[in-house]
Amino acid sequence: MRDLERARMVDQYIIPRGMNDPALLAAMRHVPRHRFVPGKYSLFAYVDGPLPIGYGQTISQPSLVAEMTAHLQLRKTDKVLEVGTGSGYQAAVLAELADQVFTVEIVEPLARQAAHTLAELGYRNVRVRVGDGYEGWPEEAPFDAIIVTAAPDHVPQPLLDQLAVGGRLILPVGTYSQTLELHRRTGTGYERKTIMLVRFVPLVRPTGTKSEGRR
Ligand code: SAH
Repeated sequence: MRDLERARMVDQYIIPRGMNDPALLAAMRHVPRHRFVPGKYSLFAYVDGPLPIGYGQTISQPSLVAEMTAHLQLRKTDKVLEVGTGSGYQAAVLAELADQVFTVEIVEPLARQAAHTLAELGYRNVRVRVGDGYEGWPEEAPFDAIIVTAAPDHVPQPLLDQLAVGGRLILPVGTYSQTLELHRRTGTGYERKTIMLVRFVPLVRPTGTKSEGRR
């Protein structure tokens, strides 16, 4: 359903932004974004804008989902962590391109709804967990790629720790406006690259979490 709209979305908003990886374009043409947004916004599912998904949260515009995913340079064998499941849309795109996807969401009803949608669509390689993604998913580490779709004010050390050597971490960092940063773990440390300015909802920490500043 709505394949033509998705094909048009890829032609209008994604290819012109320089993305040309066939597997990524195929994933963007395949994942039914309209199934991840509330019914009243279904009509706008293939316009290149963010949409509300409830609980004050939003799903990013498709071109940004594609661009962040492209930077992860996923291989079919990769194990990926996502922080900020939201609707589950980004997780589905990752699931098309990687082997296993682990995704953490702090708002329980969103996690439940996302898990339901992903199961309905037949994604068997995604696991959704409720919790504070700042801490990553230590039991499943290391990850070949980590994507954060809510903005912390500094790079969470647990996520850097949970990257495999050669692994990539993409995340927005900052408070009011944020910089999209790409980190890569090398044999001896980390490389960091800034990509562009972006605007995400803040990464929230559970109340009672010690605000410990930069580590
Ligand atoms: N990737 C999502 C959009 C995410 S919006 C999609 O494709 O729909 C950002 C999400 O991050 C929100 O659902 C928000 O509840 C969640 N979030 C915020 N702080 C978090 C934290 N500490 N741990 C996990 N999820 C968090």
